[in-house]
Amino acid sequence: MNNPYTALMPITQRPDKLFVEGRGSWLLDSSGNRYLDFVQGWAVNALGHCHPAVVEALQQQAARLINPSPAFYNQPMLELAERLTTHSHFDEVFFTNSGAEANEGAIKLARKWGALHKQGASRIITFEHGFHGRTLATMAASGKPGWDALFAPRTPGFTKVPYNDADAVAAAIDTETVAILLEPIQGEAGVIPAETGFVRALQALCTKHDLLLIFDEVQTGMGRTGSLFACQQLAVEPDIMTLGKGIGGGVPLAALLTTHDISCFAPGDQGGTFNGNPLCCAAGLAVIDTLLAPGFMEQVRDTANYLEHRLKQLSGEQGLGEVRGQGLLLALDTTPLNAPVIAARAFEKGLMLNAPRPHTLRFMPALTVTTAEIDEMITLLKQTISTPETTA
Ligand code: PLP
Repeated sequence: MNNPYTALMPITQRPDKLFVEGRGSWLLDSSGNRYLDFVQGWAVNALGHCHPAVVEALQQQAARLINPSPAFYNQPMLELAERLTTHSHFDEVFFTNSGAEANEGAIKLARKWGALHKQGASRIITFEHGFHGRTLATMAASGKPGWDALFAPRTPGFTKVPYNDADAVAAAIDTETVAILLEPIQGEAGVIPAETGFVRALQALCTKHDLLLIFDEVQTGMGRTGSLFACQQLAVEPDIMTLGKGIGGGVPLAALLTTHDISCFAPGDQGGTFNGNPLCCAAGLAVIDTLLAPGFMEQVRDTANYLEHRLKQLSGEQGLGEVRGQGLLLALDTTPLNAPVIAARAFEKGLMLNAPRPHTLRFMPALTVTTAEIDEMITLLKQTISTPETTA
């Protein structure tokens, strides 16, 4: 019999643990150890692990209909499209299986729109340190250091400029430009929010040059920043938006949204065998209906304020850096301490944290996280920080 551990491609360094159960903010490994999870699969479990509404929706839908074919309507797909368009300024949705696939769709849609309405303009302005996925086109759109040289030849058609620099964007626009693509908060870059003035300037540039504004809300969407979508807090209406991660509450679901005006895919331009399947859309429906329930988002904002307050307190006490981000997508600058070392030590103590940069810890707990769990996280983090080896 083959060793199942070496039968998996080593695409990441996994800890020597086997996870068997999850409930809310907690994960359980096969040895019975409990972990307080402030990563949630990189913000995928919007409602925490195995939320009853998601579990029930999946159970009921699995027993009824799993995938009739993406070429047919199904009830959860229709209802989820209705919810997303009713609660945003968008009119149309295309469901995908991952954030990268949603962004691929956004790139294709912008290029098709450019072919139809802008004499074939196809270049998209994207940002240094941005992250849009791991397909060939989304890697080329991303600004992750080192990625330009990987998997050559690189997909052409992207111009990279510094984030929060409207002058650099203006200087990069030419007759070949069709769109500007950005994350309203750069997540993988270490939780760097776009300044309001910058986003407004981008919208003005798009109006002036007839360009599409594309928001990648794969990480910031679905309640993560304290409103259903981050663009709503910025009071900006992008032409195209992508969603992923939290939209499925843990199952593979993502979406591409646009308005009737921009929508231009003809039948056959876009698709996929799993797209809009009722099983994943049923989970998505359970997530969005929970977010839209009276009081839920107020609760998220309250807990987010509490987490921010406790992180600032900790930073002050320990002599660390700034706390930044929005809602339940926050980062702590750990300078002078080494964040990946803190995350590794915290894991040993039963606390899961993410360190996207050498001096940045990222916090993206379940939207249902309690203040008691935040207190417990701070206690564990404090104990971890006082371990001498965390100094970098
Ligand atoms: N866009 C953003 C902003 C992301 O943070 C991610 C994933 O981290 C993606 C796109 C890619 O999503 P997926 O991993 O589902 O393909």
